[in-house]
This record gives sequence, structure tokens and C-alpha cells, in this order.
Amino acid sequence: MKDLIEHWKLKKDAVKKPQRQFVRQLKRKKRKEIDELADQLHQKVFQEIDCLDCANCCTSIPPLLTRTDISRMAKHLGMKTAEFQAQYVVQDEDGDTVMNASPCPFLQADHACMIYEHRPKACRQYPHTDQQEFMQNLKLHATNAQYCPAVFHILERMMKIR
Ligand code: SF4
Ligand code: SF4
Repeated sequence: MKDLIEHWKLKKDAVKKPQRQFVRQLKRKKRKEIDELADQLHQKVFQEIDCLDCANCCTSIPPLLTRTDISRMAKHLGMKTAEFQAQYVVQDEDGDTVMNASPCPFLQADHACMIYEHRPKACRQYPHTDQQEFMQNLKLHATNAQYCPAVFHILERMMKIR
């Protein structure tokens, strides 16, 4: 539903501070309980948001790349690893290996990923709110809520329950 994305655009700045405070408080909660709740909310929110209506992560956050990601993508594109690295990879200011452009060079006009089956692990795992990953990535969620409408709505719904 595009409504959830529109709602996020309108409200994200206003709730930035309360969401940050809420996420900080979650540190004191039982990890398993919150991971299970996050997983349920993740499933529900992603039934209501179609990433193809959004693509904001692919537009604004260059994904981290592992060596395995790089060789898998290079192989898929019929390129040598070094060639792929020269064309698409860079070290960011923190020394992390990331895609060298935002929007991502593999993002297509219809918001589909050109290398979807071969995309980086970071793209598969984003936004780290399911599969028991929520608590271990707690520090990221308030910031991610500014980029990802799904994270925003997961936090909003969690705040109403907890
Ligand atoms: S590789 Fe695909 S999923 Fe990952 S940022 Fe680029 S377009 Fe998005
Ligand atoms: S920012 Fe979130 S909702 Fe938007 S495409 Fe990425 S994962 Fe999907």
C-alpha cells in the first residue's frame, strides 16, 4: 500500500526523537521476546508495503559488499573480479567495502534489481528486522526508520504495544 509510504514521508521527521528514545529503552527488554515481536511486525508490514513502490534503500544507502558478494556478482555479469571492483566498488570513509554509487547502478527504472538473485548479502538482510536480527542490530533501527518506511512502521506499531 502506497499509503504507508506516504505516511512515512510525512511523519518520519516528527517522530525521529521519540523513536530514538523508544529504541534505547528496548535495550533493557528481553531479547527473545522483542525479536519475536519484531518478526511478526516485519511480516505484517511487508505484506502492506511493496518494496517496488519504494526502493529508497537502493536509492540512498550503498550496500556493504563481501568478497563472496563481489565474486558472485562479477561471475553473474561475466566480468573478472578486478574488472567488477574497478567499475562498481569503493572503500567508504569508514574503510568498508561498498557499492560505489547511489542510486545503486543495478537499480532499474521500475525499481527492480537487475541482479536480484545475485544481490549482496546486505541487500538480502536489509532492514534487519526479522530472522531474530532485530535486537542484534538495535543501534541501526532509528536511523533506518528515516530511510525505510517498513522500519518506521515496525517501530510505530511496536511503540503502541510495548
Ligand atoms: S544490488 Fe540490487 S538490491 Fe542491492 S542496492 Fe543494488 S539494486 Fe538494490
Ligand atoms: S527502504 Fe525498506 S521498504 Fe523501501 S525498498 Fe528498501 S527495504 Fe523495502
